[in-house]
Amino acid sequence: MSQPSSSTPIIDVLVVGAGPVGLFFANEMQAYGCTFRIIDRNSTPSIHSKAIAIMSRTLEALDNRNLIEPFFAQGRISNYMDLRTRGKPLALIPTVGTESPFPYPILLSQVHTEGFLEDALRKSSGNDTIVERDVNLVSYQEDDGEDVVVATLARVDDPDRTEVVKARYIVGCDGVHSAVRKGGRDWTFEGHSYKSPWALADLIVESDHIKNDRITMMLHPEGPVTLFPFEEGLDRRFRIVTPLGDFGYDESGEVTHGTFTCFTLFLRRFLSCVKWTLRGCILNLGWNLIRKFNRLSNTNMTHRSPKLICKIICSIIPHHYSSPLPIPGIQDARHQHNATQPKEMTLEELRELIDRRVAPEKLVLSNPKWISSFRINERLANGYRRGRAFVVGDAAHCHSPMGGQGMNMGLQDAHNLGWKIALAVQGKVKDADLLLESYSIERVPIARKVLSFTTSFTKRISKQGFFAYLVPRYIIPLVVSRSRFQSEIRSNMLGFKIAYPSSPLNHPTPSILRQVRQRKSWLGFLFRSPKHLIEPGEHMPDGILKLPRIQPGRDTLMLYDVVRGTTTHTLLLFASGHGITRDKNPLVGKVLGIAGRYKSTITAVVIGFKNVIEYQDFNDAQGSVEKTFAEQVPALHACFGVPKNSQAVVVVRPDLYVAFSATEEEVESGELEKFLAGYLVEESSH
Ligand SMILES: Cc1cc2nc3c(=O)[nH]c(=O)nc-3n(C[C@H](O)[C@H](O)[C@H](O)COP(=O)(O)OP(=O)(O)OC[C@H]3O[C@@H](n4cnc5c(N)ncnc54)[C@H](O)[C@@H]3O)c2cc1C
Repeated sequence: MSQPSSSTPIIDVLVVGAGPVGLFFANEMQAYGCTFRIIDRNSTPSIHSKAIAIMSRTLEALDNRNLIEPFFAQGRISNYMDLRTRGKPLALIPTVGTESPFPYPILLSQVHTEGFLEDALRKSSGNDTIVERDVNLVSYQEDDGEDVVVATLARVDDPDRTEVVKARYIVGCDGVHSAVRKGGRDWTFEGHSYKSPWALADLIVESDHIKNDRITMMLHPEGPVTLFPFEEGLDRRFRIVTPLGDFGYDESGEVTHGTFTCFTLFLRRFLSCVKWTLRGCILNLGWNLIRKFNRLSNTNMTHRSPKLICKIICSIIPHHYSSPLPIPGIQDARHQHNATQPKEMTLEELRELIDRRVAPEKLVLSNPKWISSFRINERLANGYRRGRAFVVGDAAHCHSPMGGQGMNMGLQDAHNLGWKIALAVQGKVKDADLLLESYSIERVPIARKVLSFTTSFTKRISKQGFFAYLVPRYIIPLVVSRSRFQSEIRSNMLGFKIAYPSSPLNHPTPSILRQVRQRKSWLGFLFRSPKHLIEPGEHMPDGILKLPRIQPGRDTLMLYDVVRGTTTHTLLLFASGHGITRDKNPLVGKVLGIAGRYKSTITAVVIGFKNVIEYQDFNDAQGSVEKTFAEQVPALHACFGVPKNSQAVVVVRPDLYVAFSATEEEVESGELEKFLAGYLVEESSH
């Protein structure tokens, strides 16, 4: 066994786990020029399709890191969500919007996602064996003397062969049973498991009604059957997911609850009691009304329509009071907590289950690649950082796969943390501790929101009894056809609402803007909110830029093209029609002068408005080192909330979230200098 010594080299980061999140994070480290090692205890990459929906905000992150190409080449865009019940269409919800350059989910097996990320890492590092497989993280501890983490690794095939690694930081991308999280003090993983497992199968589906450009969900009182198409050559290959029992939480396992969870559990049970008491009252009232009606009309309605009455009563009584469904299926040991081991599910059993739930439609199922069952866990770590250790992806949170968010959240975590660790390691920020702490502060609330959305979504679609009868028939078609509802669902699902308004990195918004924002949130339902300058914490929108001199074959350029692969912050100066050169526009001179003091951490981009800029301006601008563009119409100005005749400065972080925004007057009064001085290290001083 090797012992640490003072001569053991110190690397910047030890990445534990080479699932999609670890691989993405390692790509980040490579891009920023950090020294790192990435280990995984498995000898081969995962062979299961698991996460198949990649959402817009994740696609934006992949594009930002220049990794998107193969995802488009191989993935399948989902255009709709098709809701059906008992052979009839209920609603067709478009899943393609306009809010992003990638306003849709891409469906692709996780096997490909991991493959593309590992290929990119091999290519950029020039090392074919960069992922060290069969290597297990055994333990780690912080060494305050040397300011490092000392980790002990062991070969899986020979546990006595150990190695000691010293790293500035350790990043746990090691899944739900994370050794990094378990090795940290007071690090909990609170939440719950659902009591019934769900069946999952990747197979060929033949049917006249199931199209492969959409996600189809067929509602049934026993639980929905959901089909996700994904590209596998010319096959009509789909992922089928369906619950194998009623919705509810497993409270028998060794789940540890904190005070907050205990309180919410108590509240939930209390509300549930109130709910069922009310339902009982309504049932009683209904029964009395029927008896009254019988007496008045001298007929016996219960005799006339016993089936209808029974249906209504059964729909009101919750499913746990009727006989439970048989639960076949195996558990995927890599994805379960607290689960018992039901018997294996065969293709025949699956066919029988699906036939019953989709009738009168008929799905012909064949060629299964993977039949399994999984138990849904919803858990969240109490913070993502302990000193020099971080958790990312499933190690930090795990979600119901029905919401399709687990891997998405993980990749976005890695995008959030990568640049922060790089800047901290390279000593380019004023307050490295605050920067690293902001990872947890920004991402934990997002995971909490996503967890609550996916829980409520899973709960609603798997609810049996009352909801299973009345909601699909009468409520869904009514609600789902409303475009506001559709865009709300899309925003939640695709990640457009993700923002960090309370990040400690944000430059405080001047009071006038804050008033506008408050008016927007409190009185938004009364007034149409005025368009305001983009605020710190919001995600950078995309838009068309025009090159100063039209290049052959490439006359337009998007803003995302300019920031693709960036390892610096981007300072956007919206010059409107005031000119884009230093001598024509004093603000350009001032802002570029300030940005010049942070050359390795800031790239300046000047965006003018072509119709009011003289041609001479372009030639001048070409000579400067900054990137200079002119819009044909001030669409991008409008998108960032810069009025036509005003100027503004916006500083965007490498992960495309805004850190600073200010009007010309605020820049003149020194806001930009103040912000940068407290945030980044000036070039001359490091
Ligand atoms: C059936 C199913 C369907 C899903 N569908 C979706 C979906 O549609 N959309 C979505 O976004 N997500 C989905 N998910 C979730 C998604 O698969 C996970 O969120 C994703 O795999 C998490 O990636 P990760 O890299 O954080 O962890 P993992 O993929 O679990 O990778 C962790 C890695 O760490 C390694 N490791 C663990 N411990 C150690 C150690 N001590 N030393 C060294 N290495 C270690 C493991 O070998 C593993 O390779 C689904 C999951 C399942 C099970």
